[in-house]
Order: sequence, then structure tokens, then C-alpha cells
Amino acid sequence: MTAHPAGALERELAIAVGAEHVEPTGDAGWRVAPGSAAEVAEVIRRAGSHGAAVHPVGTGSRAMKIANTGRPRVYIATRRLDQVLQLDEMSLLVHVQAGLTGLELERILAPRNLSIGDYPPVVLTSSLGGIISVRTPGKSSARHGFFEEAVVGVSAVLADGRTVHTRVAPRRATGPDLARALCGSEGTIGFVTSAVLRIHHKPESRLVASYQLPSVDAAVSAVYLALREEAAPSGLRIYDADEAARHFDAQSLPPGAALLCAATAGPTDLATCDRDLITSAVIAEGGRRGDDALAEVWWRRLHAGEPTPGPAPSLQVMATPGRLRPVYHAVRNAAAAAGATCRAHISRFDADGAVAFFTFTGGDHVAAAAERAAETAGGWLVGARAVKLDAYLRALRDVLDPRGIMNPGSFA
Ligand SMILES: Cc1cc2nc3c(=O)[nH]c(=O)nc-3n(C[C@H](O)[C@H](O)[C@H](O)COP(=O)(O)OP(=O)(O)OC[C@H]3O[C@@H](n4cnc5c(N)ncnc54)[C@H](O)[C@@H]3O)c2cc1C
Repeated sequence: MTAHPAGALERELAIAVGAEHVEPTGDAGWRVAPGSAAEVAEVIRRAGSHGAAVHPVGTGSRAMKIANTGRPRVYIATRRLDQVLQLDEMSLLVHVQAGLTGLELERILAPRNLSIGDYPPVVLTSSLGGIISVRTPGKSSARHGFFEEAVVGVSAVLADGRTVHTRVAPRRATGPDLARALCGSEGTIGFVTSAVLRIHHKPESRLVASYQLPSVDAAVSAVYLALREEAAPSGLRIYDADEAARHFDAQSLPPGAALLCAATAGPTDLATCDRDLITSAVIAEGGRRGDDALAEVWWRRLHAGEPTPGPAPSLQVMATPGRLRPVYHAVRNAAAAAGATCRAHISRFDADGAVAFFTFTGGDHVAAAAERAAETAGGWLVGARAVKLDAYLRALRDVLDPRGIMNPGSFA
């Protein structure tokens, strides 16, 4: 690797993308906005030849972990990569550049009666490159699965400037799925320039229902009974009695009881069938139908921008279906032991688990005690990652990026 003066790198970046798309940053680096995948490849090649570190940037919603390597930094923004390259309404596939946000894509699809799917709108405010590259529990729905299941193919630039297209043929005609390695890799394996995504018709019907159950445990059991019966709801949320009182103040549940809100969608017959599966599961667990107006409020808060009563939750814990109940009780007990009150809701359900959101009031050191209790009960704090796999990730990076150009400091 040759050491070049910083000015030389800046000139080369300007040659690659045009001087108007290169701006210095405060940390001895540059923010560069390429207008095509070919320009991304050119920038990465030139940055690499100067020993610079490359950091992909989507909408920048998440603070970056940047290693202090002492090397020049090149931040490559996707904001000019904002085009739909192809829309195939027969196969329900869209090929889209990485800088478009999920909501922008949704706006393009809506007049054609198409949709990206039932993901929380807050997730769709991110760039599609960021949504694909970062794995967080909000990017899944019981109806459509993880967002990456919608990713049929990815085009990415590797650390040496080579471009990979993982969708070179229909999925059934190809070998290993390289797109899977890129999904969730946080810009450490490659720079995602575009993706082919599976899309959906807008649902003909959307139904919401609310249920009262004797306990949070019974509500969790009902949800997983319905999911095992292959119900595919577009949204589910369990509130414990304290959280329900806070979120729907006039409506109080008996102490220890739970409120379940459910939404189903699709052709009317299927949406009705999914709702009936949920109703049967609730009855099997000792619950009953409740006031659907509550579920309508919940849905409007999620999808129509109606404000949710604050404050924001103090702790978010992911857990598999079998660990949700132990985590819920462990955190409540830890909060009580610390002299705090605790309320919770559980949402973002899929077959793999859900996320419990806890809010504490009062108490000393409650957050640390609650985190410990959640982890001991088998939960994962949101943002946690399976570090046991880091050795494999390092081996992959050593092969694909021996000079450690792509996002050093992120992951292993
Ligand atoms: C306040 C806040 C609330 C959030 N709430 C939620 C939530 O409710 N649900 C949820 O799922 N997530 C949530 N997130 C996480 C955030 O939405 C995701 O990290 C998001 O997908 C990042 O998208 P972005 O476009 O903002 O990417 P950035 O924040 O710009 O980048 C995130 C990471 O991805 C890498 N990256 C970005 N684009 C590319 C690309 N094209 N190719 C390769 N690597 C790339 C970056 O280098 C960086 O490491 C939240 C984050 C914040 C800060």
C-alpha cells in the first residue's frame, strides 16, 4: 500500500464522482456521494489504494462505530442512488437502488396498488441499503417474516472494487445465496448498491381486534398457538395491565390481566380466517374478545402517526418464544426489588420471538439490575449480537477485505 498525501486522494475522489459531490468532514475524511454503482466501485478502489477506510452511509439514523485507525476516512453516501431500476408487476419484484428509503419506495408503489409489506413505518424511514445491512428486530412482521426474506438479490461492491450481483438467475437456478451473507453485515463485507425485493399487492381488507386475557403468560401462549396454526397477522401487541392503563387511560384491566391487539390483512376471506385463528387461540387460553376500539387506536398510533403516550420505553429485550415469559417476570421482579414500578408491552412477534418493551418509574439502579435479570432469564438486549460468530466473520473479512477497508470498527 502506498502512502499518498490527503490532497491526492481528494482529487481522485473528485475525478470519480465530480468535485461537487465530495465534501471534507471534520475528522480528516470526506463525504462522497456517487451517482451510480460504477462510481461507488471507483471510489472504493481509489480509497483502498490510498489505505483509507470506507464507511457506507444511508440516512445516517444510527451513530457509527468508527475505529480510530489513523487512516483517512471516506464516507460514501447512498443518497444519490435513489432510483427504481425495474418493476416487474407479474413476478411482484422491484429492483431498487440502495439510497431510496422504504417510505419513498412505498410512495412509488402505492398508485399501482402495490406495497413493500407490513413493516413498521419507523423502519421504512431508513434507506433500503441501511435496512438490508443492519439487522434489528423491528424489521420483521408475522405476516411477511424478516425483511431479508424479501431480499431476492443484492448488488454490492467489495473492498477491492469488484461488483457482485447475487441475482443472476431465478433463485431456484443458482447455488449458494451470497445475498444472505450481505444482509445484516453492516457494510463490513460489501457496499450494497441495489437490491431486488419481493413486493405485495395492497391488502383488500385490514381487520383489527382486541382481546382480554387473564395474564401476560396466557396472552403469549395464545399468540404462539395462533402462529403455530399458521395465522399470519400483520401486527400483534400484548399490553400488561399497567401498560394498558397508561396507553388507554380510561380502560383499566383487572390486575395481572393482559390486553392483546391484533391486525390481520389480505384478501377478505384470508384476513377473516387469520382473525378467527387468533380468536380461537385466545379462547383456548381463557381469554375473550375485548373492545376493538382499543385496537383501532393502537393501529392508528403505529401507522397513522397518532402520538403514543410517553415516555419512550427504558429497556427493550428480545427473546425467543420460550423465553418471553421468564424475561417478562424476571424484569418485573428486578424492578420491584429496586423499588421501581414497571410496565411493559410485547410486540414485533414472529416465529423466532418478539421484543418486550419495559418502562420504569423510580427506583435506584433499576436499569442495570433489570438488564442483568433479562439476560439471566435468556433475553438479549436490543443491539446485542451473537459474538460467538465473530471468528467466522473475521475469517470471511480476511479473505474479502485483507486490508480492512470496509467499516473497520464495526463488528469483529
Ligand atoms: C433513534 C433510532 C431509532 C431506531 N428505531 C428502529 C426501529 O424501531 N426498528 C428498527 O428496525 N431499527 C431501528 N433503528 C435502527 C436503524 O433504523 C437501522 O440501523 C437502519 O436500518 C439504518 O438505516 P440508515 O439508512 O439510517 O443507515 P445508517 O444509519 O446510515 O447506517 C447504518 C449501518 O449500515 C451501514 N450501511 C448503510 N447503508 C449501507 C449500504 N448501502 N451498504 C452497506 N452498508 C450500509 C452503515 O455503514 C452503518 O454501519 C433505529 C435507530 C435509531 C438511531
